[in-house]
Amino acid sequence: MKIYKFGGASVKNAERIRHLADIVAQETDDLMIVVSAMGKTTNQLEDFTQMLYPDAPFEDRDYNCLYDQVVSTGELQSTRIVSAYLNHAGLANQWMDITSVLRTDSTFREANVDIATSTTLLHQYLSAHPAHIYVTQGFIGGTADGLRTTLGREGSDYTAALLAYMLDADSVTLWKDVLGVYSADPRKVRDARLIHEMTYAEAAQLVEQGAQIVHKKTFQPLLEKQIPLFVKPFLRPEEQGTWIH
Ligand code: ASP
Ligand code: MG
Repeated sequence: MKIYKFGGASVKNAERIRHLADIVAQETDDLMIVVSAMGKTTNQLEDFTQMLYPDAPFEDRDYNCLYDQVVSTGELQSTRIVSAYLNHAGLANQWMDITSVLRTDSTFREANVDIATSTTLLHQYLSAHPAHIYVTQGFIGGTADGLRTTLGREGSDYTAALLAYMLDADSVTLWKDVLGVYSADPRKVRDARLIHEMTYAEAAQLVEQGAQIVHKKTFQPLLEKQIPLFVKPFLRPEEQGTWIH
C-alpha cells in the first residue's frame, strides 16, 4: 500500500478535486489517501472558534477542546467530498473516520498519538472494511472517550507518515504546490536548486533551518521504518519531484 497526501491547496475547488482524481486513477497499488481541509478552511474555523469565545485564554483547556471539535470538521467535510467524487468518477473507495482509529491523548490542539493502540484499531478497521482505496483525514485524531483532537497546525504530513508507519507502507507521496524540495527558498534565493534526491538527514536539516516544505514531525516515523518519501508537484504529476530516502 502507498500513502498519498493532498494538502488544502490540492482540494480547494472542483477543478482541483477532478485533477486529484486523475492522479489517483494513474496509481495501480492500493492507496490510503490523506486529505487536508479545503483551501484556508482551517484558518476560517479557527477564527470562528475565537469569535465564540473572544476572551478565552489561549491555554484554556475547555477552549482548546472546543477548538478541536470545531476545527476538525474541516477535514471531515473535505474528505467526504473527495471520497464522494472519487466514487462518482469510478474510483471506488472507503471513507474512513480517522478519529475512531488514530487514538490520541487529550492534549487538545497538540495531541500525542498512541501508536500501539492506533495500530491495532487501524488494522481492525481495514479488515472490517476491505477496499483498494481509502480516503481519510489528516491532522485530526480522537480520544478514548470519543472527543476529536488535532495534532498541531499543518499536521497532515505527519498523519501520512504515521499511517505509513502503522501500515508498513511502501512509500509516502506528499502532493504539493511546488516542484519539489529546493536547496533554499526559491522565492528569496535566485540560484536555489531543485533537489531530486536527498537523504532523510539532509531533508530534516533543511526543515530545521526553517524550510516549510514538510512538517517537521514527518521524518521520524518514516526513517524508523525506512519508508521512502516523495514530494511531488500536484499540478505537474509527470515531473520527478524529490525523492527522500
Ligand atoms: N488543515 C490543517 C491546517 O491547515 C492541517 C494541514 O493542512 O496539514 O493546519
Ligand atoms: Mg491546511
